[in-house]
Amino acid sequence: MAKGNKPGACRFCGQNVFVEDSAEMTAPQLEEAATMLCTCDEAIKYQQEKNRRTVAKQRINELFGEEAGEYKQPEAVREIMLHTIDAICDKKMKAATVTIKTGLRCRVMQMAKDKIKVVREISDNNEFVQ
Ligand SMILES: [Zn+2]
Repeated sequence: MAKGNKPGACRFCGQNVFVEDSAEMTAPQLEEAATMLCTCDEAIKYQQEKNRRTVAKQRINELFGEEAGEYKQPEAVREIMLHTIDAICDKKMKAATVTIKTGLRCRVMQMAKDKIKVVREISDNNEFVQ
C-alpha cells in the first residue's frame, strides 16, 4: 500500500475498500469515500442516489444560476430550490413548486424509480386581473 493511503470500511457491508489519498481524511470522510467505491448492492444504490442529487442540483444551477441569463436568481432563491432537492432526495416530500414571479416557476418532482425532475416553467399569458 502506498504511503498516505488507508482503507476505509463500506457503511453498508463493512468491507474494507482501498481509498486513495486518504491519509488526511476524518473517519466519516473515509467511510463516505469507501462507501462511494464499494461495489455491494447497497453501496451502488447509495452512489446512484447521491449522483442523482448532484445532477439535480447542477440542473438548478444551469436553469437559475450564473449561466441562466435573464432567469438567474439570487442566492437566497436558489438555496430554497437546492433544499427542495435535498428534501425530495431524502424522501421527506414528493414535489414542490417555487413561484419566483408570475410566469416563472421552478418545479421539482420525484418521478418513477426515484428519478428527480427539475423544470423551469415559463408562461407568458397576458392575463389581466383587476
Ligand atoms: Zn459495501
